[in-house]
Order: sequence, then C-alpha cells, then structure tokens
Amino acid sequence: MRLVVVGSGVVGASCAYAASCLGAEVVLVDAAAAGQATAAGAGIVCPWSSRVDDPAWYAFACMSARQYPRLIEDLGELGETNTGYRRVGALSLADSGEQQEGVRQRILARRAGAPEIGDVEALTGAEARGLFPPLRADCLAVYVGGAARVDGRLLAASLARAAVRKGAIIRDGRAQLLCSGGRVTGVLLGGQIVAADAVVAAAGAWTRAFLEPAGVTVAVAPQRGQIAHLSLEPADTSRWPVVLPGGSGHYMLAFDGSRVVAGATRETGAGFDYRVTPGGLAEILGQALAVAPGLADGTYLETRVGFRPIGPDIRPLLGPVPGVDGLVVATGLGASGLTMGPYAGAVAARAALGEPDAVDLAPFDPLRLPPGRPVS
Ligand SMILES: Cc1cc2nc3c(=O)[nH]c(=O)nc-3n(C[C@H](O)[C@H](O)[C@H](O)COP(=O)(O)OP(=O)(O)OC[C@H]3O[C@@H](n4cnc5c(N)ncnc54)[C@H](O)[C@@H]3O)c2cc1C
Repeated sequence: MRLVVVGSGVVGASCAYAASCLGAEVVLVDAAAAGQATAAGAGIVCPWSSRVDDPAWYAFACMSARQYPRLIEDLGELGETNTGYRRVGALSLADSGEQQEGVRQRILARRAGAPEIGDVEALTGAEARGLFPPLRADCLAVYVGGAARVDGRLLAASLARAAVRKGAIIRDGRAQLLCSGGRVTGVLLGGQIVAADAVVAAAGAWTRAFLEPAGVTVAVAPQRGQIAHLSLEPADTSRWPVVLPGGSGHYMLAFDGSRVVAGATRETGAGFDYRVTPGGLAEILGQALAVAPGLADGTYLETRVGFRPIGPDIRPLLGPVPGVDGLVVATGLGASGLTMGPYAGAVAARAALGEPDAVDLAPFDPLRLPPGRPVS
C-alpha cells in the first residue's frame, strides 16, 4: 500500500509516522508554506478546562490528550526525546472565589471520565504566583495537574524523523492532487507523478486550495494567530505551568531556556497575510502584562505567525471523502490542533489504509458546510 501524505505539520507528520508503523510505503510531502500553524502554535494540551459545548469535539480532544504520553514514550524509544512535551499542569485563573469554585467543580466533574486530569486544586494568589512568578499577586487559580505543553516544531520534526526510520520518504514541494475514474492516483510534484493508492490531505489551512482543483470542496479557512516569545533569563521556566486567564482566550506558557510564550490573536478573515502587526502585538502583550506584570522586564525575542485551519464548526474535518476512493481529509483542528493533531493523524492513517478503528467518524464528515449553507 503506497500512501502520499500532503502536509508535514503535526497532523501530516503524525499520519506519516502512524502509517509507516502500520507497514505502509509512505511519502510525506510539504510545500514549506509560510505560516505553518504547527510552527507557531503555543502547544497547550488541556482540553478539560474548555468551555466548548460539543460532546463529539470534547470526546475526541480528551482521547487525544490521553494518548499523548504513550506517543511521547514511543518516540523516545526510537531516540526522539526532544519534543518539548512536559506535563507541567495548568492554572485556570478566576476573578472571584465564586468563579474559582465554579471552575474547580466543572473540571472535577469531568475527572470521572478523564482521570488523566490529575490533581484539581484551588490556589490562593500567592500559591499561584509561587508556580508562575510573573503573575499578579491577586490571581486566584485552579490548578489542573494533568495539563501539558509541547513544542509543535520539535514534535512535528520528531514524528517526521521517526516516520523516516520506519521507511517513509520525505519530499519537498507543492503537491497537486491527481484523480482518475473516481479515485486518487497520486500527486503531481515538481512536474513528476508520485503514484499512490491513497492520499491524505493534511495541508492545514491550505487544504481547500489543495483539493479544489480536483472538484472537492472542504470548508476550511485560515485564522491568523500572532504569538510573542519572551526570555526571562536567568529564570528556570522549564516546569512553570500553563496559565489560562479565561474569558479573553489569551494565555501564557513556558518552555526550557527561560522562554515564556504569550498568545495569541485569533484573526478570522485576515487570509494568508503572513505579517506581525502593531495591533496584534499590542493585543497579546497587553493581555499578558495585565495578568503577569512580572513579564514587563523580560527580553522580547520574536513574534510567530501561524494560520489555524478553521472548519465550519469546532470539530475536525476528518475521514474518507465519499466519491473519491483513496482520498482522506485530516484538517480543521483550529485552535486545538497541537492537542488533537497526533491522534487525528493516526486516525487518518488507519482510514487511508483501511484499518479498523474504534473512532466514529460520522461527526467529522470532511465535506460538511457551515450551518445554513446547502450541501452541493
Ligand atoms: C498562534 C497559535 C497558537 C496555537 N496554540 C495551540 C495550543 O496551545 N494548543 C493546541 O492544541 N493548538 C494550538 N494551535 C493550533 C495548532 O497549531 C493547529 O491546529 C495545528 O498545528 C494544525 O496542524 P496542521 O498539520 O493541520 O496544519 P499546519 O501545521 O499548518 O501544516 C500544514 C502543512 O501543509 C503544507 N502544505 C500546504 N499545502 C500543501 C501542498 N499543496 N503540498 C504540500 N504541502 C502543503 C504546509 O506547508 C504546512 O506545512 C495554535 C495555533 C496558532 C496559530
């Protein structure tokens, strides 16, 4: 079975790795588009504090978070230990004791179905600040022990290398889908045909452009995210928890090397405009400093820009495309793709190879359109 995976962000790289482990002959293709979401993504893995009210999304996100430690272990066994993944916990901030108790109860109620949530504790402002020192002194918080963070760039690179170790081939360039007689036959790459029995379209926000020439329309669009990186040298930030202020959708997290990340804008309608804007920068730094004034004296390092692949709703676009044999779509992970990407990629690999899967793909129909628009 020969599989071409288009896109080597977290979804495509995971798919290539999973398919290679299942014995497929895999070619992983990437166009190196500016604004890959995986390379800009913050890397928070904590679906349990989400306010999203969609059971199918939540179940998929939970399963994704649950599978992470196993994936990281498997990659480690292949010598891939540098993924930036660490279970650092999260602080879900609250403005009042009442709000704090509401958050604590909501997360605790979810723990029965997701024991990996771990410890759930109400913290005083001083306790929260003890874990994330730049915080304001008066921030009440709920600590969620199971939350993790991951470095999207490192993870995707590790997955791609692991896939190569299992026999996959990596090719650079912009792929064009080739179909004939109601099925995929491969892709055109740099003027050459790369033949395949199946193709997984994991091209993120560019998936629509990849599929449209073949007459397949998926409702995925870019949402620009700008996210700032700061250095707090010489602080040891390697175990600082993720900070989720709630409400605004902004957050902070930390990595090794004194690096603190503050994000992010959610700019729907900005298209593929790969720029850092003064407005974007003011928004993310303003929100971060309002909650964590201790960041003010850090060193500004860079702002990353990425295009989240946003579907017609919160759920992924995931599964085989009816009417085009051998074509599988894996995108639309929006703001949660670093959480769900590894699992979604593995699901796509199994779908492409015709392997059985426990996941019900019905809620993730890749051809669904926004509510109110007729399905053509
Ligand atoms: C600022 C920001 C913060 C985020 N924070 C988080 C977070 O904290 N937690 C979380 O879970 N998620 C987060 N996300 C979301 C997450 O990053 C994305 O959902 C995820 O990375 C999408 O991965 P992907 O593989 O689908 O797409 P991408 O990573 O965008 O990869 C798509 C790839 O396809 C390639 N491609 C496109 N067209 C072609 C073609 N024709 N031929 C070959 N290759 C092609 C591109 O070059 C690109 O490399 C964040 C995103 C952003 C932007």
